[in-house]
Amino acid sequence: MSDPSRPKQPRIIAVANQKGGVGKTTTAINLAAALAEIGARVLLVDLDPQGNASTGLGIEPASRKSTTYDLLLDEAPLEAVIQKTAIGNLLICPANADLSSADMELVANEKRSFLLHDALRQTAMDRYRLDFILIDCPPSLSLLTINAMVACHSVLVPLQSEFFALEGLSQLMLTVREVRQTANPGLRIEGVVLTMYDGRNRLSQQVETDARENLGDLVFKTIIPRNVRVSEAPSFALPVLSYDTTSKGSEAYRSLAAELAARHPFEPVQEPA
Ligand code: ADP
Ligand code: MG
Repeated sequence: MSDPSRPKQPRIIAVANQKGGVGKTTTAINLAAALAEIGARVLLVDLDPQGNASTGLGIEPASRKSTTYDLLLDEAPLEAVIQKTAIGNLLICPANADLSSADMELVANEKRSFLLHDALRQTAMDRYRLDFILIDCPPSLSLLTINAMVACHSVLVPLQSEFFALEGLSQLMLTVREVRQTANPGLRIEGVVLTMYDGRNRLSQQVETDARENLGDLVFKTIIPRNVRVSEAPSFALPVLSYDTTSKGSEAYRSLAAELAARHPFEPVQEPA
């Protein structure tokens, strides 16, 4: 039951695909930045021990004193782990290699699948008045990804426009179904977004056709093109929207954010006059 005395709760979306290098982190960072740009209050939870989302948003390793690991395993208070980024309205819960031992440490914990769920639903979360929480998952269907699927309302799946892209999806969908049957009956697929799309490449076009035929409306209208500015931005510790605001990549992530905002309306933050 939702508590009427609490403010509206954020839409929690896990960005997941057990394949590495398909654009999860890129999508998490840039979708978060694009939602923040239109006035949503956003928290990005870095759930990957590689910490790429944290690095890509300019959180230096030295300033990751408290991380997602501490949130999950040491019950660190939210204010100790949640940090501001250089982007207005965008907060981050950073990660580092500490998280790589979490899977093993969690095995004996009877609440092991619910740790992120419980952490994100503390009443202490209310003060951030978030509209969206995006979770950047590791490239596996490990206990960390299960935590994300138990914690979230929906899973957003980046699909790289290349051969075999659809093959890994059935395993992912099976895991979603299992989590739905056990821990999170309301779990939805938010959508599948084609990434690194090259319109001149017949293979990209074929993957799009196959995805739309097989998955129908689950596929977002927006397609993320392969764009060199997108791949350069993390080395400047910026979302592409800040690095090159008029690039094709920036436009695509704005369009994806608009699709999400239309489904999950929010009250935009008013800029101070
Ligand atoms: P994952 O998190 O799924 O492992 P990443 O988001 O880290 O994948 O992306 C893998 C690589 O592909 C990175 O080097 C990233 O910069 C690059 N990349 C992702 N999306 C794009 C894009 N739209 N255009 C060009 N390069 C991209
Ligand atoms: Mg990643």
